[in-house]
Amino acid sequence: MEEIELIETGLNNVFSYIAPDGSKRLATKALVPGIQGGKTIKIGSDEYRIWNPYHSKLAAILLKGASIPLKKDSSVLYLGAANGTTVSHVSDIVSEGTVFAVEFSPRAMKDLIRASTPRMNLIPILADARDPGSYTNMVTEVDLIYQDVAQREQAEIAVRNAETFLKRGGYLVLIIKSRSIDSAKDADKVSHNEIKKLGELFKVMGIMDLEPFHSDHASVLAEYR
Ligand code: SAM
Repeated sequence: MEEIELIETGLNNVFSYIAPDGSKRLATKALVPGIQGGKTIKIGSDEYRIWNPYHSKLAAILLKGASIPLKKDSSVLYLGAANGTTVSHVSDIVSEGTVFAVEFSPRAMKDLIRASTPRMNLIPILADARDPGSYTNMVTEVDLIYQDVAQREQAEIAVRNAETFLKRGGYLVLIIKSRSIDSAKDADKVSHNEIKKLGELFKVMGIMDLEPFHSDHASVLAEYR
């Protein structure tokens, strides 16, 4: 295989490289080498996990140039962890921090537990993100909430979780799936209605559509006042 040059992105353990088709792609340095599925790049004894922007909205956000305030010791509350695809890359990034990963589907939880077992910084939680009171005994105050639940009431869920867990000056990354709110309204209008609902609690710092990687999706980065 041709040698790939990995370039630091400024985000801990996240690197960019040029794929054989000429497109820019991302990879994270594996926190626990040798155990994950998926494609990897090996350089010496280090392993880098290819982060597909079509499978992960966070990879799409970063590839499109947004800067996400994650540090190596950040604590993150991840709502809508699914089978752990993106969560496992967040675990690589916050290598000295913690990821609390909430998911309410028992089926997805099976895979999430498998992904988290070798990762000391990833805590899977089977719970409903609409009811943060049900997991207060498992989650500490966090620096960032990442929410991708594809539900109605997306902004309300974010507000409830922020009030319970997010530290002042912390951040919210909210993925808005327009279709899950009201498929009849146009995507932009829905995004803006949801953003308005973040109200006085947040200062919205950036909004981005996730084209061409994820249609009908937008991301919002907001600071908790
Ligand atoms: N963020 C994931 C990734 O990038 O790998 C994909 C998330 S997927 C679009 C949405 C997930 O949110 C699903 O796994 C779904 O079961 C979960 N979900 C939806 N509503 C939820 C809720 N109220 N509480 C917890 N999880 C929820």
